[in-house]
Amino acid sequence: MNAPSLGSARAPRPGGRENLLAQSLQFLKGVGPQRAELLKRLLLENTADLLHFFPVSHKDRASITPCRNVRAGDEVNVRAKIVEVRGERYRGGKEKILAILEDESGELRAGWWSVWVADRLTPGKWGFFSGKVGSWNDRLELGNAEFELCSAEDAKGSTNPNFGRIVPTYSLRPRQRRPDGTEAPEVKLSQPVLRKMVWQVLGTEAPELLADDLPAPVREQRGLMRRAQAVRQMHFPDTLGDLEQARRRLAYEELFLLSTGIALRRSHVERLEPARKLPVTTTIQSRIQARLPFQLTDAQKRAFREVAADLAGEHPMNRLLQGDVGCGKTAVAVATMLAAVAHGAQAALLAPTEVLAEQHHRTLEKLLEGSRVKIGLLRGGSTGAERTAFLKDLASGETHIAIGTHALLEKDVRFKALSVIVVDEQHKFGVEQRSTLRSKGRAPHVLVMTATPIPRSMSLTLYGDLDISIIDALPPGRGEVRTKHVEEAERAKVYDLIRKEAKAGHAAYIVLPRIVGEGLDEIEAHPKTKSKAKKRAPKKLWSEVKGVEAEVKRLKEMLPLLRLGSLHGRMSGDEKDRVLTQLREGQIDILVSTQVIEVGIDLPNATVMVIENAERFGLSSLHQLRGRVGRSGLRSYCLFFGEATTDDGKERLKAFERLKDGFAIAEADFKLRGPGQFFGTAQSGLPEFLVADLIRDQRLLMDARDDAFALVRSDPDLKAPEHASLKRRVERVFAGKSRLVLVDVG
Ligand code: ADP
Ligand code: MG
Repeated sequence: MNAPSLGSARAPRPGGRENLLAQSLQFLKGVGPQRAELLKRLLLENTADLLHFFPVSHKDRASITPCRNVRAGDEVNVRAKIVEVRGERYRGGKEKILAILEDESGELRAGWWSVWVADRLTPGKWGFFSGKVGSWNDRLELGNAEFELCSAEDAKGSTNPNFGRIVPTYSLRPRQRRPDGTEAPEVKLSQPVLRKMVWQVLGTEAPELLADDLPAPVREQRGLMRRAQAVRQMHFPDTLGDLEQARRRLAYEELFLLSTGIALRRSHVERLEPARKLPVTTTIQSRIQARLPFQLTDAQKRAFREVAADLAGEHPMNRLLQGDVGCGKTAVAVATMLAAVAHGAQAALLAPTEVLAEQHHRTLEKLLEGSRVKIGLLRGGSTGAERTAFLKDLASGETHIAIGTHALLEKDVRFKALSVIVVDEQHKFGVEQRSTLRSKGRAPHVLVMTATPIPRSMSLTLYGDLDISIIDALPPGRGEVRTKHVEEAERAKVYDLIRKEAKAGHAAYIVLPRIVGEGLDEIEAHPKTKSKAKKRAPKKLWSEVKGVEAEVKRLKEMLPLLRLGSLHGRMSGDEKDRVLTQLREGQIDILVSTQVIEVGIDLPNATVMVIENAERFGLSSLHQLRGRVGRSGLRSYCLFFGEATTDDGKERLKAFERLKDGFAIAEADFKLRGPGQFFGTAQSGLPEFLVADLIRDQRLLMDARDDAFALVRSDPDLKAPEHASLKRRVERVFAGKSRLVLVDVG
């Protein structure tokens, strides 16, 4: 018998119904130890795994074409009897197997270039044949059809998982890469065999046993299928519309479970001890504005209004401030910190690099010149008396605003009354670091800022427990940064431009990727890996210094009249400071640098950014680098060299040249790299989705989120008995017990 009958698992089921989902696939008909081994490579071990092994695509084999109606170029499915089979030899000795097929309407030739099919084609038998129709010597011929023989009886009905319906196609590529990072080869299982196995499992009780945890009212209101039905329709949909509905239901479930977890976390935070209220009165507001050298833009004002509303409330603020590079997030941060100071409380500003911390320090010092506000800067390299004094003034409350890098997180850094925390370039920090800083105050208000804007749906999952403010406009008078991929042959022109800009008093950046290679000084290895590097003597080390030094030497010859400076990660804080001060004061025309200038550097008269080997940078980094110019009304340029060798790389450079908006860039980057790499899995802690797609399903996410928050509002701890199973599942996902949101069968 070719067509499997429904529900005919061969062996008795051990343990009965409950264990059916956990039952090994070896119990399936047609699966012996060998196939079980192959299935394992696809991470398929039990019934539940197989149910969630969703197809990558489907083929519509629902409509059967009568033999006489086929046309060249069509993909067709025919149901016909094999009348004749013979071999034909072609030039070069290749043999082709030919069969004449026949149904009620007429005849059709079918040909295969593999000889072994001859054994399977028995004249007189019926079968389903699916393939593309070609034309050979003016005769129509079905080429290399996928086929399956069946009894004349089967040929009429449709209990066959491979034909006469919409059929699934599964990925045979193992999900895990090999240890050396290369893709593992496809597993040697055929689509028909897989379809039969899935068909068999779908015919059992198993789908009904999957937990259906969407609250019934939600399911009804959103018009969602039951889970069992959705799982069936994912594999063998009745129509393409059903397939879409099935996908929608399962994606919704994933997004709903995740959102419920986020809602629970948030409701928990809201019930913690109350925050210190810091209302921004009109007096405070105007005092703050008076300190700023410009009028806040409408977008900045809106963001600050949202912040001020939080500061006046019971609960600690927990807000993300998003905005493209150069939109002016710092001004909002300053206003937020000053609100704390106005109430006699303290604020802290955490920055990812020394250079940025220094810059913020300088900006604040300048803005607050002549005021009573005392600002402290903690450098990574601060030691001895300098450090002791900083710590003392902070603990006594004499310092109002503390600025620093990771150094601020250290244990001995204590505040008297820390009430506002601002984390700049938050994507450079982990969740844990945020909470370390938070623990230095009593329910402080937290504002995190990011210049790697990410599409809303992504921030709702990654930062789902934060409120979000968006600065969606740049300060007035900013021109577009002209971005161009330049060829080696145009290098002289690029230098001409730099020369011209230098004459006008404008500065240029030239950014290089670090060099990786053998024979570099060990001392230049990454600081974190240095000790290990010594022990294991890795072949590949990298150097920031060598590339920068070589470039400076080269440029000295090419542009002898211009003043050069250089900046790299191995310089001390003081050295970096000196260079940036020279740059700011117009004593340097070109700054040759590594990626250290990527984040935050704000120099209004820099107008040219040249990026070497741009293919070595990620899309978001490129955008950040571009953000270093065009920070005033001056016409600015971003010119990049480099040829990508991979398709992804080419895509990336094209996207960079085309897209100017940070959100669009982030979305493209996300698509190119996938969520894991984009977020950096370690930092995100996001469980994986099987069906949901954060780009495609934004609308669905918003719905799921609304529903989940409403649910948690009505039942803050999910104590109601009908929510018990949902709660357990959410908890397991958030505790990292199931990698996949959907496949959690307890
Ligand atoms: P980012 O959002 O990238 O951190 P910054 O806060 O560094 O941007 O601001 C970029 C530049 O824009 C700075 O030079 C800043 O002084 C200037 N700026 C910010 N807000 C305004 C404004 N409302 N009007 C004019 N210039 C502004
Ligand atoms: Mg910034």
